[in-house]
Amino acid sequence: MQLTNRSKQVSNKEMTLAEKMYLPAIAQGLAITFSHLFKKRPTIQYPEVKRYLGPVFRGHHVLKRDEEGRERCTACGLCAVACPAEAISMVAAERQKGEEHLYREEKYAAVYEINMLRCIFCGLCEEACPKQAVYLRHDKFVPVFTEREDVIFGKNKLVEDVNNRYVRNNPEVKATPTEPTLSGAAT
Ligand code: SF4
Ligand code: SF4
Repeated sequence: MQLTNRSKQVSNKEMTLAEKMYLPAIAQGLAITFSHLFKKRPTIQYPEVKRYLGPVFRGHHVLKRDEEGRERCTACGLCAVACPAEAISMVAAERQKGEEHLYREEKYAAVYEINMLRCIFCGLCEEACPKQAVYLRHDKFVPVFTEREDVIFGKNKLVEDVNNRYVRNNPEVKATPTEPTLSGAAT
């Protein structure tokens, strides 16, 4: 029984001179090559040019601040419990008097670390967080690291820059219902 139509009968007929010089095959190959010159290029000049990753891309984690610039994370640990890769660890601390402008609630994460070698970018930490504190950015890759000590991302790499806030503001797709915005952060 014939499964596909790709099988060919082997021919023992004498090759012509052109065939012996591979001219038809070379012409065919060149035609394919030249036809690609006029097609839209599927590749881009990365990293000079960066492709839009899409609204649901899960990239670099960010620890969000609230609308007053205070850290939202309360070190409840739910993200760490939800993480299937056990990539998240933290140390909780109590907010001291005078630190109300830094941390939103009485408890905060003095240490918050994600092991990027373990992380599988599933986004479950984002879903588990009741404070809308941890997000996976849709617009930023985790950078390449070459040293083993660089794989632990601490608060210095995770807490968002107060002057460069992250908002998932893709005009094509509506924001997720739980997404905080600069003007109206959820509580
Ligand atoms: S994205 Fe998934 S694997 Fe990575 S830290 Fe969050 S829960 Fe863990
Ligand atoms: S990021 Fe969210 S879930 Fe994780 S410890 Fe902070 S508040 Fe809790």
